Amino acid sequence: MPMELKGSCHCGAVRFKLQSSTPVPYQLCLCSICRKVGGVGGSINLGGHAKTLEVEGKEHVSVYNAVFDRDTPKERRASSQRNFCSKCSSMLWLWDETWPDLIHPFASAIDTELKPPKVMTCLLTNSKPEYVRLPEGEKKVYKKYPSLSIEEWHKENGEFVE
Ligand SMILES: [Zn+2]
Ligand SMILES: [Zn+2]
Repeated sequence: MPMELKGSCHCGAVRFKLQSSTPVPYQLCLCSICRKVGGVGGSINLGGHAKTLEVEGKEHVSVYNAVFDRDTPKERRASSQRNFCSKCSSMLWLWDETWPDLIHPFASAIDTELKPPKVMTCLLTNSKPEYVRLPEGEKKVYKKYPSLSIEEWHKENGEFVE
């Protein structure tokens, strides 16, 4: 059975739960979007089963389709939807119609206890400013993307929950 994750925004207007087969918070993304919306150190993204998502307080959920290449002729919107609480701005989950069965809750919104990973994966570090430090402890650092998806990493590390 996949693991149930319960989450909420900071003010409590939005509460949600979903099933996850990939619940280890090992992947810290330091891209400019994850740092701007998630705070200086970036965002940790989990994986879940989109069909199992149940939301209380849906009326308070707003969506941000990230802007790529802002202020250039190539400016465009991401298809992925970052859902957040419109009352307190907490980031909740990311969903993309291109992969409709997947959903990526932000670990910061999850209230269920999560297992600390032995080794963190830090990605897109080439987009962070010098002053942003990486988390303490063992880590693998990628200037761009790691080769393993969230699902592949969980399978390789014996953490995938069928
Ligand atoms: Zn809120
Ligand atoms: Zn990112």
